[in-house]
Amino acid sequence: MKVLVQKFGGTSVGNVDRIKAVAKRIAATKEYGNDLVIVVSAMGHTTDELTGLAQAISRNPPQREMDMLLATGEQVSIALLAMALSELGIHAVSMTGAQVGIVTESAHGRARILEVRTDRLINRLSEGQVVVVAGFQGTSLSSGGTAEITTLGRGGSDTTAVALAAALNASTCEIYTDVPGVLTTDPREVEGAKLMQEISCDEMLELASLGAAVLHPRAVEIARNYGVNIEVRSSLTNQNGTRLTSNSRRPIGREGLELGRPVDGLELVDSQAVIALSHVPDKPGVAAKLFEKLSIGGINVDLIIQSTHEGNSNDITFTVSENQLFNAQILCEELIEEIGGKLTTESGMSKLSIRGVGIMGRPGIAASLFDSISRAGINLRLIATSEVKVSCVIDAKLGSKAIRATAEAFELNDSQVLINPPSKDIEAPEVRGVALDRDQAQLSVISVPDLPGTAAALCSAMADAGVSLDAIVQSERQHDDGSRDISFTLKREDREKADLALIPLLAQWQGSSMKEGPAIARVSAVGAGMPSTPGTAARMFRALANAGINIAMIATSEIRTSCVVSEPDGVTALKAVHEGFHLSK
Ligand code: ADP
Ligand code: ASP
Ligand code: MG
Repeated sequence: MKVLVQKFGGTSVGNVDRIKAVAKRIAATKEYGNDLVIVVSAMGHTTDELTGLAQAISRNPPQREMDMLLATGEQVSIALLAMALSELGIHAVSMTGAQVGIVTESAHGRARILEVRTDRLINRLSEGQVVVVAGFQGTSLSSGGTAEITTLGRGGSDTTAVALAAALNASTCEIYTDVPGVLTTDPREVEGAKLMQEISCDEMLELASLGAAVLHPRAVEIARNYGVNIEVRSSLTNQNGTRLTSNSRRPIGREGLELGRPVDGLELVDSQAVIALSHVPDKPGVAAKLFEKLSIGGINVDLIIQSTHEGNSNDITFTVSENQLFNAQILCEELIEEIGGKLTTESGMSKLSIRGVGIMGRPGIAASLFDSISRAGINLRLIATSEVKVSCVIDAKLGSKAIRATAEAFELNDSQVLINPPSKDIEAPEVRGVALDRDQAQLSVISVPDLPGTAAALCSAMADAGVSLDAIVQSERQHDDGSRDISFTLKREDREKADLALIPLLAQWQGSSMKEGPAIARVSAVGAGMPSTPGTAARMFRALANAGINIAMIATSEIRTSCVVSEPDGVTALKAVHEGFHLSK
């Protein structure tokens, strides 16, 4: 029989009336004859409240005890929902993560799912029961063989639901929430955000990891890898929501359901040129002016990076294909004449990228890419990171060496390596949605050696401390001794861990120091059509300039453009970009 997995979020089961309403909806679905597995979150803000209780006792409570505490939230809602279903004459049974066989790694607070032992679940379903499962939790077998309660990380009930759907071979997982589906941006911040009928898993992964909290990124990863279709919809209406489809259907590997290989492709694009404008004025409108000029001149810009700056000037670096270098250079010279600054260009470069899912969520991956390249003695000219792709620009002469080192590091076979793949015209909007992340901090390491291995050492130290870096940017300008600065953004909650991880590196790099940036927010635009639509970045920068917002950092990847702005500008920036791409209703 067909299994249907439905997940109801915190607001949807926020009080007794809502639980009764959810039970009625489930009862109506049951009439269609599906086997039903229901995953629920804790009621309303329960998880926040429990966290508050813990914080009132300890600033740094043991992670194991936090999991013991937080897992109780979901246990309340499953029992109440099972009771509500019984009241309606539906045979239902509630089960915790452990009872339903969700086996995870032992990392408390952020455990990944290794396996779902479905026997007990299947037995209950074959008896005709509706199984109500506690989201967000699982069980690990500790070294002593004792089962421990683990949680998957905030928002993790989505991941429970999609993992169950994958393990049960369910064709669809319905995620019921308090909005009509995935919208072009967060409706709490921007009035007029529009419902999307569909979105690709790659786009959703980028959006979710850039702040669109409507889906847990790991749920999208599982859906993408194992071919689960997701439908996000409102628990308050009967309207269709947003479909996320996935074509791949890989078997669940020995490494574990969520630990399957995150990198599944490698590509090298040669004949690239790097253009750098340094010491340009640090004021709104400069990036807009530059990239509009290039766009009107027919130049297709690939990666764009703007680093932080000393004093009141900025450096903007970007790549174009070599055959456009000459024209791009003329346009940049014209602009520099007008606004000031210095131009440098370099041809004979290649872009090497790894592709996959959940790359930034696993900080070790970017670190091992940079490490394998630096071990081959190759310097990284530019770096661009994202959830589905990490790229670096290197000397083209070292391209084959870099490919060999990377393919070996990620155990990729020849069929997974593409050299100069033809660019695809994807039928998707240049910008599908925009997101704001306010939980970001910015750090710079000043005066680090400009040698192979520096970025790798930084990323490895952070990865070992469990910290994901985003928007890693190496400064264009060099200090008198040839050293450069590296800036990055990270989750604000990871600041302390990052500081500790940096201490040994700073000691090793003589004369280096750490600098904390001002409070920031990051606004990002995501769309699969971005690479095939020239001028997208220019439109984003123009929207920000017209709103009078200064851009502190820029980082792009294949299907996303992110700008770091000052924290108080965050929501205005989000609205401006949303409006700039005409995404409103
Ligand atoms: P649940 O408790 O159902 O899991 P969440 O609070 O985790 O719900 O996620 C739903 C919330 O995500 C919405 O209320 C909305 O404010 C927020 N959100 C952020 N970005 C988006 C977006 N692009 N589309 C829809 N909702 C979004
Ligand atoms: N209750 C957990 C949280 O609030 C899990 C979830 O709702 O997805 O993060
Ligand atoms: Mg959620």
